[in-house]
Amino acid sequence: MGRENPSSHPLRRRAGDTGGSRGNLPYFSISKTGFRCYSAEMKTSNNTKRTKFIFITGGVLSSLGKGLASATIGALLECRGLTVTFQKLDPYINVDPGTMNPFQHGEVYVTDDGAETDLDMGHYERYTSAVMSQKNNYTSGRIYYSVITKERRGEYLGGTVQVIPHITDEIKAAVLQLDGSADVAIIEIGGTVGDIEGLPFIEAIRQLRGDLGREYTLFIHLTLVPYIKAAGEVKTKPTQHSVRELRADGIQPDILVCRTEVPIEDSLKAKIALFCNVPKDAVITAIDVDNIYEVPLHFHEEGLDTKILELLNVWTGKPNIQPWVDLVRTIKNPKHEVTIAITGKYIDLTESYKSLHESLIHGGIATETKVKLRYISAEELEVKDPAELLAGCHGILVPGGFGRRGAEGKINAITFARENKIPYFGICLGMQLAVIEFSRNIAGIAQAQSTELDPTTPDPVIYLMKEWFDYRAGKMQVRDETADLGGTLRLGAYPCVLKEGTNASAAYQTHEISERHRHRYEFNNAYRATLEGHGLIVSGTSPDNNLVEIVELADHPWFLGCQFHPEFKSKPMKPHPLFHAFISAALKNKQAGG
Ligand code: GLN
Repeated sequence: MGRENPSSHPLRRRAGDTGGSRGNLPYFSISKTGFRCYSAEMKTSNNTKRTKFIFITGGVLSSLGKGLASATIGALLECRGLTVTFQKLDPYINVDPGTMNPFQHGEVYVTDDGAETDLDMGHYERYTSAVMSQKNNYTSGRIYYSVITKERRGEYLGGTVQVIPHITDEIKAAVLQLDGSADVAIIEIGGTVGDIEGLPFIEAIRQLRGDLGREYTLFIHLTLVPYIKAAGEVKTKPTQHSVRELRADGIQPDILVCRTEVPIEDSLKAKIALFCNVPKDAVITAIDVDNIYEVPLHFHEEGLDTKILELLNVWTGKPNIQPWVDLVRTIKNPKHEVTIAITGKYIDLTESYKSLHESLIHGGIATETKVKLRYISAEELEVKDPAELLAGCHGILVPGGFGRRGAEGKINAITFARENKIPYFGICLGMQLAVIEFSRNIAGIAQAQSTELDPTTPDPVIYLMKEWFDYRAGKMQVRDETADLGGTLRLGAYPCVLKEGTNASAAYQTHEISERHRHRYEFNNAYRATLEGHGLIVSGTSPDNNLVEIVELADHPWFLGCQFHPEFKSKPMKPHPLFHAFISAALKNKQAGG
């Protein structure tokens, strides 16, 4: 299918011993006249190297895995020594997904700088070393908000403010912020081509091709090639229509990535190529896989990264995909197996706990263990015997959450884990509920509660802290109950110091860590001495010792609750220490006959 081995390319073989280098990787682009190093005309105005932009659109229907495809492309480019960054452009009107129901939209992913973003940021960070922030996720709402704010300030000088050029200019400015920050920026357009909401984004990227030129922009369209059982064949028509739709908006895709259940034969690739006006080697099969971490290997085998670099006119040297080969081998050959119970509000939708799900799998990768996840309804745990519902689970996890629904059921699961010495991992709300459980059942504070769940509780062991020192902002924060909903959240990365000799310090192997937060309520220090007196260990706090970040139990093999969300920092190649430790503990529990 016209794929070439990069090392056998006549020009490429000469690369290593000719001219410029980036780190120890030669770094060239190829022009028709042969090699050249990146030259002055390829630099941005502030003299950094210009970024090449890959725009990813989706067709036919949603949920084809555009986020994963984008992350995978980033991973493959990193395997060639390029630096990458990402941006997701979401066509909905919410300014950010922070206030959206995770049941509808999937998890809200939090970045170091405290942005509440689309869960695709999680894919990007897990697959590459790129660090996401506010500028990597824009919604239509955010774009419009900015334009309307400017209009109110009188910045448009009495002109009529319109979708073209004002909204599209604002989108282009958002995209071009990334120029110079990496070799390649992968820009994913949310939604499906043909959606009314997505049009300004499509128009903006169409214009960017003209603004930046062919070698600086690439259009990749992800589409579906369905297998029709009755006919016993795959169909290319939806792809043809989707590309036609895109062309009607002025964009001719350069590469088609075709999601399919069955392999797409060469003759079909030729047909798609003919009808969609792309070369045959730009028709890439994206076959369904058992495991998402296999996708980079498949795309590479299909020649996707080679084609991208050819079209963007970048030469990079031989790809090193060995880490992905090793990763997939580890995942496919587990030596052990454990079952972990997750007791949450959203049991039907794994998208709501995407990062959590992945982090548990990563903990399994670190321990060569297949991790089976069993989602258990917290509400069921309120009425049914936890021993029955949790039977056969080697570890129990209560994830983050908001509101009182199912809270008592989660507390029942925690009691069960504590009493039966089953490894317990509580994240954010799961930590707060563990403190409540301990207060009630061990420290004798019968009415212990969080003010989120009962604002009038006489014993608010978890409460809204009015004043605290904000390490990121470098100043005191003052909050109260009347502040608007989003405004009172502690968001993003905060430092935490660990107490020696605890499970936390054993897991992290370091003294100070930084983890991401997304919560409003905190451990109430008024109860700290009493709870510690009864055996609760505060194993992590803010550097000023004011905010309790991690709690543990002394008399238990592994019982840990953390106020932050470690799941936002776990990667398959770098499993998070706490997930690693939790899965190890679950494995030990199983091996001990638990
Ligand atoms: N609802 C709790 C709070 O706001 C916990 C939030 C969470 O689990 N992310 O503090």
